[in-house]
This record gives sequence, C-alpha cells and structure tokens, in this order.
Amino acid sequence: MHRSEITIDLGALRRNVRRLRAVLGRTALWAVVKGDGYGHGAIDVAGAALGEGAQALCVATVGEALLLRREFPGVRILVMGPSSGREIAQARDADLDLTVTDEAVPEGVRVHLKIDTGMGRWGLPEISASPAEVVGLMSHLATADSDPDFARAQVERFTAATEDFSHLIRHVANSAAALRLPESHFDAARCGIALYGLSPFGEDPAADGLEPVLRWDSHLAQVRRLEPGESTGYGRRFLAEQATWIGIVPVGYSDGFRRDMTGTEVRVGGEPRRVVGTVSMDALAVELDRELPVGTPVTLVGHGVLVEHHARVAETINYELVCGIETSPSRARRVVLDA
Ligand SMILES: *Cc1c(COP(=O)(O)O)cnc(C)c1O
Repeated sequence: MHRSEITIDLGALRRNVRRLRAVLGRTALWAVVKGDGYGHGAIDVAGAALGEGAQALCVATVGEALLLRREFPGVRILVMGPSSGREIAQARDADLDLTVTDEAVPEGVRVHLKIDTGMGRWGLPEISASPAEVVGLMSHLATADSDPDFARAQVERFTAATEDFSHLIRHVANSAAALRLPESHFDAARCGIALYGLSPFGEDPAADGLEPVLRWDSHLAQVRRLEPGESTGYGRRFLAEQATWIGIVPVGYSDGFRRDMTGTEVRVGGEPRRVVGTVSMDALAVELDRELPVGTPVTLVGHGVLVEHHARVAETINYELVCGIETSPSRARRVVLDA
C-alpha cells in the first residue's frame, strides 16, 4: 500500500475555469501554472485549462515555459519573472513572451512591459515609448485579496499610465481581482490559485463558487492506546491525561505535511480528528475516540478538509501549503482523474 495518494481532479479544474470565465466575460483567462501548477502538475493543469478556453499560460521562469512549450506548440506562454541573457535567447527560439521590468527591451522576442503601480518589487515607474517588441502592458496588485481600496488605486494608476497604449494587451488582475474587482479586468486576467479551487481570500473556496482540485488521502498505519502519562512523538508534546487511542498516519513533513500543522483537523474514517503531538518527517499522529482498524482511510486534504483551514493553523497561506506537497513517486502515488 502507498503511504499516501494525491488525486488531481481535472473535472473540478474545468469547472473552476468555467466559473472564472463566466466572471470575466470578455476578458481573456490566462492560466497561471508556475511552481508546477501550484503543486498540481503544470502539464495536466495547462491542458485542461486550455481545453476549457483559457487563452494563454503564465509561468515564473523560462525553464518552466520550455517544459510547457514542448507540449503546447502555438499557445502563448508568458514568463512573468525576470530573464537573463541566455534565457532571452532560449525564449526567442521557443517563441515565448517575456516580462520586462526596465528600459532594456530585448530584440526579436515578444515582450510585456511591467509597470510598478504599488507592488514595490519589479517594474517601471511609467512607460515612455513602446518599441515594436512590446505586445502587452502589465502590473501586479499587492492587496487584491486584503485591501480593495489600495488595489483600486493601483488600477487607477495603471489606467493613467497606459491610456495612450490601449492597442496593447493590458493585464493586471490575479485571482482575487478577477473574482472581486471588476475594474481590474482589462484584456486578460492572470489566474492561478482560483483555478485550483483554492480561495485567494483564505476562506472556504465555495464562497466564490470554486471547487478544490487536489485531494490527499492516506490511512492509519498503526493504532495504539496510550495510558495516562504516556506520550506520542518527539518532545512528548502530546501527553495522554487519560487512556487515549492514537492513530499513526505514514505522512510527515517530508511529504509536505508541515510540522506547524499540529492541531489541525483531518478526517479519519470520515470523521474530523485532531492532529496531535509533533509531526515528524515521515509520520503524524491523530487522536481517536475509539479503537479503529489499521487501514482506516484518512483524508488529509479534500472531502471537506480545506487547505485554507490547515493554512490558518500553520499561520501561512494555502498557496504555500499546496506548493509544498511532495508529489514524487517515492513519497506518494499521484492519480489524475480526467472525467
Ligand atoms: C502568481 C502570479 C499571478 C497569479 O496569482 P493568483 O493569486 O494565484 O491568481 C498573477 N500575476 C503574477 C505576476 C504572478 O506572479
């Protein structure tokens, strides 16, 4: 038996794409599949999103783009991060779109100029000219998920800075803005997290009509009774006050179930149960209310167990948790449902 199984439901992904396209109307949906599709598998996700009407793919690096180019000839692939000299040559050969954040526009490759309207990271303060290579103008919002007023001010700055260049493709919105800030839509929206059915707002994704794509299942590999005063795991961080049944799940932080997720809830045989003690590299413990058979299914993510809840416990964001799930065959079995 595998230690755990990760299921990617491309049907759910397609429904999320439809939902975003309905919200976006005439604005094109560009699927953001950097970080191996936020840990979901970039090629599977890209294929499903394009099949459902996404019009381009966005990644962070030229390396990520080259892997996709092999599978998807003829599709616009935008590299959103900075590229070096050698990467620019590779991008030209592979017909990629590059993001440029300063005055030095490379020749012979399609370019999107990035304007810094408040993110305070990459980008030009304004545009003075647009050489022939420039096909798009973009900006990135710092607070679309948390401070709509600041996001609106960024959109206004972008509108003012790009007014004279409305023949170019203008794009600003990420998932949060696509869902809740219509004035940010322009010509295209670069959506990542929402494709995966995860909430950019850290809420239940159902609130925005989204459905999680990733499920993570394991099982009880060991069930034991702790007597009062006995403990489980490193540091004895869980000490039984009374006789307590404990289940051991063969998944730990090396699989991407982080150490700071102690205290979160998973489902054991369909019932919510608390993760207790120290999560170790290859195992975690759950508190049970009775003896259960070894092999009882444990849902770590999915079927109502929300990554957003784990993220709150770990004081991070859903993005970081899904990117950290280890999908290599040496740790988990990965199954793609394509219904
Ligand atoms: C990652 C990224 C996005 C996608 O953001 P989500 O919140 O996942 O939708 C959009 N634009 C840029 C520049 C990005 O780096």
